Amino acid sequence: MAYKISDDCIACGACAAECPVGAISEGDGKYVIDADACLDCGACAGTCPVGAPQAE
Ligand code: SF4
Ligand code: SF4
Repeated sequence: MAYKISDDCIACGACAAECPVGAISEGDGKYVIDADACLDCGACAGTCPVGAPQAE
């Protein structure tokens, strides 16, 4: 299990600062989650202003 960031992402960067394992990085027009590093903690989802990170 891992979280995935949807196309709703506005690339604000807030989630990347909250991720405890640094699994979130800036991608092409939105932020992306490294599924292999993600701990499924949900911190990114709780931080995002548009609800873009979602559990798969
Ligand atoms: Fe990082 Fe947790 Fe979000 Fe996974 S669920 S990307 S570990 S903040
Ligand atoms: Fe995108 Fe939400 Fe992360 Fe901001 S907090 S970069 S809108 S996923």
